[in-house]
Amino acid sequence: LSPVPSDIEISRAQTPKPISQLAQEIGLLPEELEAYGNTKAKVHLSLLNRLQHQPNGKYVLVAGITPTPLGEGKSTVTIGLVQALSAHLKLNSFACLRQPSQGPTFGVKGGAAGGGYAQVIPMEEFNLHLTGDIHAITAANNLVAAAIDARILHEATQSDRALYSRLVPSVNGVRCFSPIQMARLQRLGINKSDPSDLTPEEIRAFVRLDLDPEKVTWQRVVDTNDRFLRKITVGQANTEKGHARQTQFDIAVASEIMAILALTDGLGDMRARLGRMVVGSSRNGQPITADDLGVTGALAVLMKDAIKPTLMQTLEGTPVFVHAGPFANIAHGNSSVLADKLALKLVGEEGYVVTEAGFGADIGMEKFFNIKCRTSGLTPDVVVLVATVRALKMHGGGPNVTAGVPLPKEYINERNIFFIFYLYGCSNLKKQIQITHLFGVPVIVALNVFKTDTQAEIDMVCRIAEASGASAAVQCHHWSRGGRGSVELAHAVKKVASQKNHFQFLYNLQDSIVEKIRTIAQKVYGADDIELSPEAQAKIDYYNQQGFSALPICMAKTHLSLSHMPEKKGVPTGFILPIRDIRASIGAGFIYPLVGTMSTMPGLPTRPCFYDIDLDPVTEEIKGLF
Ligand code: ADP
Repeated sequence: LSPVPSDIEISRAQTPKPISQLAQEIGLLPEELEAYGNTKAKVHLSLLNRLQHQPNGKYVLVAGITPTPLGEGKSTVTIGLVQALSAHLKLNSFACLRQPSQGPTFGVKGGAAGGGYAQVIPMEEFNLHLTGDIHAITAANNLVAAAIDARILHEATQSDRALYSRLVPSVNGVRCFSPIQMARLQRLGINKSDPSDLTPEEIRAFVRLDLDPEKVTWQRVVDTNDRFLRKITVGQANTEKGHARQTQFDIAVASEIMAILALTDGLGDMRARLGRMVVGSSRNGQPITADDLGVTGALAVLMKDAIKPTLMQTLEGTPVFVHAGPFANIAHGNSSVLADKLALKLVGEEGYVVTEAGFGADIGMEKFFNIKCRTSGLTPDVVVLVATVRALKMHGGGPNVTAGVPLPKEYINERNIFFIFYLYGCSNLKKQIQITHLFGVPVIVALNVFKTDTQAEIDMVCRIAEASGASAAVQCHHWSRGGRGSVELAHAVKKVASQKNHFQFLYNLQDSIVEKIRTIAQKVYGADDIELSPEAQAKIDYYNQQGFSALPICMAKTHLSLSHMPEKKGVPTGFILPIRDIRASIGAGFIYPLVGTMSTMPGLPTRPCFYDIDLDPVTEEIKGLF
């Protein structure tokens, strides 16, 4: 339709096929499906075993240029592309998307189900609670937080003996260690299975984690942009006997448990990773883990359903996995390894899986390669880099940008805006293409066309993209036309994905933490160097001492600039990247530097999206989601 109706109107106008029918069409067995109503279902991981000998399909990553705060259409391109591949080129295809956080849904950006005629439906299900995975993560995360503070209190107020008799209670006169406690004894090097055999020193070592309240690194989480939780004091009631301490909330999608969900390859691995999570250190500097708290089994139980990807569909009835949802600026920004692996088997050798990395290629794609691919062992066949004229114009607007490629003669006499747009704005596109080439993977630029774009602007961006080394550059009209608006992109993907590529990581895990951070800062962001705060340096020394240095790096950096300064557009140069602090996510398996003023809890703007959201009490229809 023209004008294109709102996202929610389009979504509601299409009746989704029953999820059991879609499951049957893509080759799932009834027992591999767990329906949550008629439009979404969890898929069992046993499918991976059943299809283990099936060759994988082609693996396509959708990334983007440095975006405006509204997003440039990566999810929309992802959906448009699978709709084109499946419904128009008749090739099996699957989209793998992250589950959106309610932070942006009610904050600035709105939902993440795509938009226009390229959406996952029903979009309100997708954008709100879905199958409860983020709630499960929040519950698991906050159980760890509760366990930490309760343990500190109990250890401070009880003798070794009293703690021991409570931790290892006598049942009918017999004391017995639980399996989790046996594992802790083993880690302490105490090889005794009879609780009455422990010496007083061994009892002391067993019952006291001796967590230093000043060195607790675990934060509570909530899936709301609630800036007033950035710094809080817990334990102020009299019942906590003066054990108040300052801490903070992060947004739920920044939880290490979310990262684990996105990187794990099965229940056993997930449980092991949950157990390895370091929550702080003891007064004598030893890392304390979830295993030490005895909470690992309970976490695995809370996460047992969340580990299964959720099957949904596009407006054109093609399959989509929605699974995990880490942000790309404060986490690793990619949907789950499990969803990608299942989808690659389901589409078969001739099929395509299109997965999306959050925000600009400098962060989401860099982490896709260096963290997700390293974990999964998968490598993509092609990157689709999404650009918009509006974002390139934004990049062209500032004075602190460096020039892109030379202006072709025929544009010199065009309106001045072209000059600015071309010379400055497109430098960001060129740089993101170069970043993709650092990994040896071919890139296709997908120009997501808005109705305000002129043909001259569209042609110019495509021409610059090809001159900058893109294997192809095509305009996409999926937002206004659905899959048929992305047929040209689908053909380009098919052609380029069939060519061999030379994928490589950007750094070796054995490089030092500082070298790895510097490599990303200089080669990807274009910084002259990095600067470590004393806190960051002290943490690096600690991680080196604990043997945590051989992990990949997950930079927490603004997505609004290649640099750490959101207002610096285009390709900023001549800056030193400040590393304010560093955290370690040992269970997820990465080191997590905080760049500049980056916060792990976003805030709400003056007029958040929730102003427009409402429910019709008669029809139960939701309004205002986009
Ligand atoms: P990203 O995944 O890059 O963050 P989205 O795909 O979520 O971006 O799109 C951001 C917003 O822009 C959505 O509300 C979407 O409907 C809208 N949008 C995307 N492409 C177009 C387009 N070509 N014309 C108009 N609006 C669009």
